[in-house]
Amino acid sequence: MPNPHSKVPANHEGPYYVDTDCIDCHGCREIAPRHFGFDEETGLSYVMRQPETEEERSVVNEAMEHCPTESIGKEEGEG
Ligand code: SF4
Repeated sequence: MPNPHSKVPANHEGPYYVDTDCIDCHGCREIAPRHFGFDEETGLSYVMRQPETEEERSVVNEAMEHCPTESIGKEEGEG
């Protein structure tokens, strides 16, 4: 389960986030390169840009579903 209490600090503010269980498998950055970036300071991925359209949300949700450590989360009631 993604943990909203251990978000990586670099996440762009908004409903989606990456937590510190990320193992930097590159998966989310391959599936949604416009939304996930690599944070050199932590060595982890982070949400670089929040999705704004249905299409973008669908790509980010796909990345979320494929994350092997379930590190990508979405805050309830937002976005
Ligand atoms: S898919 Fe998950 S584990 Fe892989 S880099 Fe993205 S957040 Fe990290």
